[in-house]
Amino acid sequence: MTVVTRFAPSPTGRLHVGNIRTALHNWLFAQGTGGRFVLRIDDTDAERSEERHVDSIRADLAWLGLTPVEEVRQSQRFALYRRRFDELVAAGRIYPAYESAQELDLKRKVQLGRGLPPVYDRAALTLGDADRAKLEAEGARPHWRFRLDHEAPIEWHDLIRGEQHFDPATMSDPVIRRADGSWLYMLPSVIDDIDMGITHVVRGEDHVSNTALQIQMFAALGATPPAFAHEALLTGSEGKLSKRLGSVGVDQFRAAGIEPQAIRALLARLGTSDPVEPFVDVAPLVAGFDFARFGRAPARFDEAELAQLNARIVHQLSHAAVADRLPAGMGAAAWEAVRPNLATVAEAADWWRVIEGPVDAPDAGEDAAYLAQAAAAAAAIDWAGDPWHALTARLKDATGRKGKALFLPLRRALTGRDHGPDMAALLPLIGRDRAIARLSTA
Ligand code: GLU
Repeated sequence: MTVVTRFAPSPTGRLHVGNIRTALHNWLFAQGTGGRFVLRIDDTDAERSEERHVDSIRADLAWLGLTPVEEVRQSQRFALYRRRFDELVAAGRIYPAYESAQELDLKRKVQLGRGLPPVYDRAALTLGDADRAKLEAEGARPHWRFRLDHEAPIEWHDLIRGEQHFDPATMSDPVIRRADGSWLYMLPSVIDDIDMGITHVVRGEDHVSNTALQIQMFAALGATPPAFAHEALLTGSEGKLSKRLGSVGVDQFRAAGIEPQAIRALLARLGTSDPVEPFVDVAPLVAGFDFARFGRAPARFDEAELAQLNARIVHQLSHAAVADRLPAGMGAAAWEAVRPNLATVAEAADWWRVIEGPVDAPDAGEDAAYLAQAAAAAAAIDWAGDPWHALTARLKDATGRKGKALFLPLRRALTGRDHGPDMAALLPLIGRDRAIARLSTA
């Protein structure tokens, strides 16, 4: 059996943390099993779906390295949905219902008032042909419900949650199509999962009760349901994922300098008992991916953890991997010199300005004479080898200074800052002439 997974976003906005995680897990599982990862655009809702969001979903997945082998669009599959819908109507598994939203609301209130669960009472099933004809003559148009089989208990072994049981008698027959003929999410998703040969449905645990209903739809359509894995939801550092954090899109992570590798490395492991590690390469994430390692407790998503992981990723990136994001002229030696000091790739530009100059050195104060000595020493040393060690060795001998007193005035004059990359790596990049000039004017 070839594994086929799908990521099924509704194109109503950018991808955010929760659905990036779902996409990633579907992709990782398919990769690890030699399977196929398909993108399904759930755009049956013409009003809320927008083409620009479809484009951004594709671009976001590409940026994350989660490329699907195929893309299908629900909006192009209405003929298939209608055909399967007609079959289920003919089989008595879908029935028309005429209650207005207000009537349903009232029924629910009455039930709740009596301490009963607000389950749809199936009044529409008692209508005869004449009742329906009369309602239609009065201008009523039906919406459509899927009739649950109350005799067939719903059970599945969830790959994350374990054994699941639902009693269909406690659930309302779900509305699957509106009076205007438009589709709700529930049935088209099942029709597609069957048609696309989906073997594993991986999604958030907010879909667990949908799965219960959909399992009966698979059966009604003559199909064996796929395997299901429902992931615990993400929470923020203080409990529930804040509205803000929950809606932070890929574009915002990207603008903040977060690398796709950091997002992958964090979201692949969050919620598992395995440590989050700064893997640049995706191979170890694929190899280590296993639903059994995920717990049922909500996983805590922490932006600070992402930022730290990002820095550890940046520290490993090759010059070739980032060259197109560096200032013109910034070569491999400069990248490697500043890389250990970066939290984001964009910060490399600050250090490139430090290398290229001009730098604003703080007033030398009582170090002025020392720096004049340093300028002279810089003119005298051999720049071909290791100029920083040559310079500091010479100054140490001449002045008896050591430690901070030896190094800090030099760093300040040469870079304008108190902290930064290893001066041994930086000084050759600053070069002889600029170094002498900076030490002289300081
Ligand atoms: N479009 C649905 C959603 O975004 C898909 C759910 C599913 O994976 O079936 O929630």
